[in-house]
Amino acid sequence: MLTVNTEQWVNQLRRQLQRANYAYYLQDNPIMEDEVYDRLYRELQALEEKYPELITPDSPTQRVGGGVSEGFASVKHNIPLYSLENAFDLSELAQWVARWQNQVSEETTVNYVCELKIDGNALALTYENGILVRGVTRGDGETGEEITNNVRTIRTIPLRLDLENPPARVEVRGEAFLPRKTFEKINQARSENGEARFANPRNATSGTLRQLDPKVVAKRQLDFFAYTLYVIDENTTINPKTQAESLESLQEMGFQVNPNHKICQSLKQVGDYYQKWQEEREKLPYETDGVVIKINSYALQEKLGFTQKFPRWAIALKFPAEEAPTKLKEITVNVGRTGAVTPLAHLEPVSLAGTTVQRATLHNTDFINELDVRIGDTVVVRKAGDIIPEIVRVLPELRPESAQPFIMPTECPECGSRLVRPEGEAVTRCVNVSCPAILRGSLVHFASRDAMDINGLGEKMVENLVSQGLVTSVADLYHLTVEQLTQLERVGKQSASNLVSAIAQSKHQPWSRVLYGLGIRYVGKVNAETLTERFSTVEELARASVEDLKAVEGIGEEIARSVYQWFRIEANQALVKQLQETGLNFQAEATETPPAETTIAQPFAGKKFVLTGKLKHLTRSEAQQLIERAGGKVSSSVSSKTDYVLVGDKGGSKQKKAQELNIPQMTEDEFQARTMGL
Ligand code: NAD
Repeated sequence: MLTVNTEQWVNQLRRQLQRANYAYYLQDNPIMEDEVYDRLYRELQALEEKYPELITPDSPTQRVGGGVSEGFASVKHNIPLYSLENAFDLSELAQWVARWQNQVSEETTVNYVCELKIDGNALALTYENGILVRGVTRGDGETGEEITNNVRTIRTIPLRLDLENPPARVEVRGEAFLPRKTFEKINQARSENGEARFANPRNATSGTLRQLDPKVVAKRQLDFFAYTLYVIDENTTINPKTQAESLESLQEMGFQVNPNHKICQSLKQVGDYYQKWQEEREKLPYETDGVVIKINSYALQEKLGFTQKFPRWAIALKFPAEEAPTKLKEITVNVGRTGAVTPLAHLEPVSLAGTTVQRATLHNTDFINELDVRIGDTVVVRKAGDIIPEIVRVLPELRPESAQPFIMPTECPECGSRLVRPEGEAVTRCVNVSCPAILRGSLVHFASRDAMDINGLGEKMVENLVSQGLVTSVADLYHLTVEQLTQLERVGKQSASNLVSAIAQSKHQPWSRVLYGLGIRYVGKVNAETLTERFSTVEELARASVEDLKAVEGIGEEIARSVYQWFRIEANQALVKQLQETGLNFQAEATETPPAETTIAQPFAGKKFVLTGKLKHLTRSEAQQLIERAGGKVSSSVSSKTDYVLVGDKGGSKQKKAQELNIPQMTEDEFQARTMGL
């Protein structure tokens, strides 16, 4: 049902996109990321489709973007210059295929020509009797700017066609662009001259094409790839019947054609081409933001024709976005093992860099204030090479009236005790040592690979143990029995006894790991090793003054104070005593492992992983990267040599095999907890 809110939202979106178009096409100075623009555009398009009564003729969805700036004559294109329809993934590509097949009303198998989508500006070039007579920008698709003198400075555009008997008229379309290196040089020079830098090569290209002085254009060294050919001459022998033949003819005429195009016989091949360039595009000397898929046969192209804006026989399949707009639905707070209370953004699910993002950390109140983010806002989320998604900014124009500012709670959501924010610190904390959230965090940390390395004691199990009251401190772990564990939901006898023996095994871990496992603030793996090298027993360490601690190389004031204070707390002293009685190592042994050379924690050093099933938050390659960063390796099949099987949704035969061979299975949550911060 159409509500006032929908109508208002459509107007807000439209205004935002119009402003973006103006900044992008006429000022060459975008106000938002292309990927963000694309999603907002899609949203408007979908709403207009649902509520056609809301469509206005000036809506950005109704016209080809761009316009004609002052300073150049505006001319009508001899043949309109259309834009391209966008698809954002392979399933949308398949829908496009179904649509055009439906239109020709028969099962047609065709060839496609796949080309790289060069991120530049389209140009329409006219040659009469082989001589370049006109060069025009795309403009709004019907009318563009006549920039022939500027076009003549582009060295890869022939001024005369390399043909003995050129046709009476030839129309060529292609992309003017700036190679990455040239773009960087231009921006460097602009910075040195105190001029504003161009946001990206595409905007720099269009800014350059619109220079009034061709000498400036010549200096900028634009480049050009040709991709469309129209021959208007009844008597010529040049008569391509397919897109592939056109590309050949263009090359013969002296144009530069992008060498990476490919004829594909099936959607599967198109998918492979897309995948290949998604992975390899960074190696190209120019920018590309997707691939263009064109039906090869001109006869079929003619049959399909055009919509108001696009040819029906071609589509641009964009590479996955790393930035996107989405709505911030809610902010909750999370209490970590140090008691730090972290606001967490709950987002409307958005697919980014191949995964679905639903949450992002907002760090602390200062961060939220700086972003000026409110609940209900549309925010830009980024998830690039890094694995952790983040909110980079708010789109204030899209803020609804009902948007609510976030207020940090004054009481801990887990234990109800009063939260504190120490002066000068950005972080709000729960300081109740028996807060269940702190306990859970401490247990997970204690059991982690670099600390006591207790197999089977992941986040889920810890949650189970704490909520059932079986464990109220780290020391309780050492008194757990198989009988107690089997009473827990979904814990069988075998895994219960595995866990009990893994806990018992951990008593052999060296003093440095025990110290790290205690989770003293600022005492990471490396600091724990440094401290245990200098203080060979816990008694010595507990007796050390701040000065003694600071005298150790690598231990600064903050760490020294934190260690000193930790040992002054009675509950901590009691914990050490209990753990000592249990038999844990609180002193250095002659055989203690030497400190690692690297400062990077490698929780999976030497471990072999096999991945199975679909992961929720990570792509396979992200998971693999994390494993490798953590010192592990990934292999494709499960064998007795496998250390862990990382299991996602619907794990298949590999999961079964892991069960048969008794190989530990790790959930994605546990995996993320153990690789956090890598
Ligand atoms: P488009 O860039 O998505 O695709 C069409 C264009 O692709 C063609 O006109 C042509 O110039 C180019 N192209 C490159 N290689 C090609 C090839 N091999 N064959 C055919 N064409 C090829 O569409 P558009 O209408 O030019 O621009 C819309 C896009 O511009 C949006 O999707 C958005 O990403 C961006 N935009 C961004 C903002 C912003 O604020 N950031 C504003 C407006 C538009």
